[in-house]
Amino acid sequence: MALPQLKRILLKLSGEVLMGNQAFGIDPAFVAEMAREIRDARDTGLEICLVIGGGNIFRGMAGAARGMDRAQADYMGMLATVMNALAMQSALEQLGVHTRVQSAVQMDTVCEPVIRRRAERHLEKGRIVIFAAGVGSPYFTTDSGAALRAAEMKCDALFKGTSVDGVYDLDPKRHPEAVRYDTIDYDTVLADNLQVMDASAVALCRDNSIPIVVFSIREKGNLARVLAGSGTRTIVQKEG
Ligand code: UDP
Repeated sequence: MALPQLKRILLKLSGEVLMGNQAFGIDPAFVAEMAREIRDARDTGLEICLVIGGGNIFRGMAGAARGMDRAQADYMGMLATVMNALAMQSALEQLGVHTRVQSAVQMDTVCEPVIRRRAERHLEKGRIVIFAAGVGSPYFTTDSGAALRAAEMKCDALFKGTSVDGVYDLDPKRHPEAVRYDTIDYDTVLADNLQVMDASAVALCRDNSIPIVVFSIREKGNLARVLAGSGTRTIVQKEG
């Protein structure tokens, strides 16, 4: 099944794509490159909601594994996503693209709080809305944040740009014989525990009939190709 006509999308980028070839942090040249691709997508007339992870800076689970309190570590992770959102906002605005950052953890001097109606208005005016801090609660990830915002903003699809070019039956980094799915059902992803997004994010997309498009954002120009219906990707949606 093909994707529905796209008017509004949610684009989720893993934090690690902002670090370029570095081992950690933010590579401004790479963020600028990403920003150009996002601007080009916006210029096709799409309304874009953006969610960026924080894994290039801090992941709560990693902190907890080293003895930190999990909830505390997760709040640090959420703050990392705000830093990434600000970096992307800056890169987009340098290209003349109007943006607003809305954070689920309130930070009044830095960005807006999440207000759905205000976000709607921003999108109507052609602004890109960057949603930061995930769902605003520990024990979640930005995948869940992306699914939640995609549902409340009534996005036609959730595009997950990551370092893998789709969903495989086995981990392609460890199993060269792994096969990529062209399309796959939400329930198969959940039953087979395929590492696409968190189970809560997949379930939220399933319950709200939001297709998830998993693709590699590391390949230059791939966002445009995938949005145009070509390009390597896996679509997670209801089948049959
Ligand atoms: N996080 C959280 N609640 C949320 C979103 C994020 O606690 O709703 C924390 C969590 O610690 C997570 C970190 O922020 O590990 C960074 O987000 P994520 O791991 O989703 O980033 P990505 O893997 O996409 O770069």
